[in-house]
Amino acid sequence: MVGYYAPEHYMEIPLWIAIISGMLPEELYKKTLMVISKEEEMYINEPTEGEYFLFSVMETNRSFVKKFLDLNRGKNFNAILGGYVNSSYFSNLEKAIYLDGLNELGKIFSINIESSPDYNLFRGEYCIPRISLSSGCLFNCSFCSIPRILTIKSEREILNQIDSLKPLNFRVV
Ligand code: SF4
Repeated sequence: MVGYYAPEHYMEIPLWIAIISGMLPEELYKKTLMVISKEEEMYINEPTEGEYFLFSVMETNRSFVKKFLDLNRGKNFNAILGGYVNSSYFSNLEKAIYLDGLNELGKIFSINIESSPDYNLFRGEYCIPRISLSSGCLFNCSFCSIPRILTIKSEREILNQIDSLKPLNFRVV
């Protein structure tokens, strides 16, 4: 795409991964980014005891995520799902937990909800960095599940977000 650097596997860095990575303390969790682009890569050979796989599920990838979980049914890992699809689509899968928001991660992991995003899983990636100045939305589009309460980020939160971008590769013009 002329004038825009698009990484091989996504249009832009998935912010949810950086947010969750920041919430999980380094000293408690080992974090890895998996890119699955071929069918044969959907099989987990030897899952480690206590291993978790996290997925953001949308209409476009929900059948892919379901297939991944079906193919690995009975193996020793847990799947944490979240996103914008009806959770009942995954209800017959053992060890698949569907969360309604990032705050619910605290039911499963020891998290720091106030932490800044951690982009180390994307170290060196060329990108146009994203900074969030607020969350929520005051409009009311019927198809959208964004919370309707607007929350403005504090100056400290914004500065922390800027600081967290250091592992990434970008140029400010
Ligand atoms: S789609 Fe969602 S975020 Fe966008 S204006 Fe509508 S309610 Fe707000």
